[in-house]
Amino acid sequence: MKVCKFGGTSMANARTILKVVDVIEGDLSRHYIVVSAPGKRTPEDVKVTDALYACFNEVKKMGNCNESFKVIDRRFREIVQDLGVDIDIDAELEEIKAGIEGSTTPDYAASRGEYLSAKILAARLNYEFVDAFDLIKFNEKGELLLHYSLDRVKAKLSTLQYAVIPGFYGSDSHDNVRTFSRGGSDISGAIVARAMKADIYENWTDVDGFLTADPRIVENPTTINCLSYKELRELSYMGAEVMHPESIFPVYSVGLPINIKNTFNPAHPGTMIVKSVDQADGSNIITGVSGQKGLTIINIEKNLMNSEVGFVRRVLSILEYEGISFEHLPSGIDTMSLVIRDEYLNGKMQRILQKIKESVNPDNLEIHSGLSLVAIVGHNMAFRQGTAATVFKALSDAHINIRMIDQGSSELNIIVGVDTCDYEKAINAIYYAFTKEQ
Ligand code: ASP
Repeated sequence: MKVCKFGGTSMANARTILKVVDVIEGDLSRHYIVVSAPGKRTPEDVKVTDALYACFNEVKKMGNCNESFKVIDRRFREIVQDLGVDIDIDAELEEIKAGIEGSTTPDYAASRGEYLSAKILAARLNYEFVDAFDLIKFNEKGELLLHYSLDRVKAKLSTLQYAVIPGFYGSDSHDNVRTFSRGGSDISGAIVARAMKADIYENWTDVDGFLTADPRIVENPTTINCLSYKELRELSYMGAEVMHPESIFPVYSVGLPINIKNTFNPAHPGTMIVKSVDQADGSNIITGVSGQKGLTIINIEKNLMNSEVGFVRRVLSILEYEGISFEHLPSGIDTMSLVIRDEYLNGKMQRILQKIKESVNPDNLEIHSGLSLVAIVGHNMAFRQGTAATVFKALSDAHINIRMIDQGSSELNIIVGVDTCDYEKAINAIYYAFTKEQ
């Protein structure tokens, strides 16, 4: 039994939805279908979810969303008409517009793309529509209540052979709609797959699978046939965009396999994501290269830091107090560095530096902005000598200065920090060094 999730480009218009219908009807083991809101039809297009956030913002300014709602109105009417489905679209759109105009948080507005998209697909397939509002539950802080949600999904969907469920949202105990973070339909799909004990969770998107590198940076990178949950987490956390970085946690403990598939090329096997390495394809040294821009390093130096008990704790408690998480913490005998995303430091930098000075009295305190991180990910690196040498030689041959190095003892990844102006060059240099070797 399969649970499938279809992303925004698959749900973008009637033409793409018909491809979705073909995929679903082509395999009757595809029982429960989770969908995103209509995404972009062309690179310049607007995603329905973004248009819905715009409606909410207009309501905040003007008290209504008469202007912005036109985009939503047009998109959905067109889809319903082109598909020829029997839906009272006037009533649906009227209710949604009124709901957005009456809400105090953006979540209701944002969720309506998935809601209508699921209703339309359910009507086209003649499957039951099941509202995620009743299944996926959050606490007041907006955190997912996983086990409660799993129970609810199971209780409801076990009574149905086939169903379509909107992704991305659920509700809290006050009956308010709550959404995951952007791209969260992937998480909804994983919850449904786990609750229904699916044999496989198919995540249908618009690419053949996970690529070994970002195609905007590297020319024609290859597709990864198979990767582990942990590799996926590393790659997507570091910027690879195929799936939401949190899509794994609902299925992690049960080891349910995920198959990334392409709605526009369904014959391609895509990428399999499995729990453990020995299930993963063992032939390549590295699984992929990804990275992220926009980081700052705070360097702290103090003579005899290594013998000052509690030094690191005092520095980290400043970040904790400010609600800031850090990405890396490379350290030496008398130095420690904090690698932090720029967006977390906005408006807080001077205060943090002042607090560090007061709390640990460093000899030297420096900030370097404009840092990018490049991650070389793969379980097989642990079993190969010379992987780090290949990385460093590639960077040195490309005349790229390495600003930071971090390798966890699990050897799942090697992370190097480079100046942002060298970012693309570094990814290419590393990618080609390994493609030559593999
Ligand atoms: N529609 C939402 C977004 O654009 C959620 C999703 O597609 O997964 O982020």
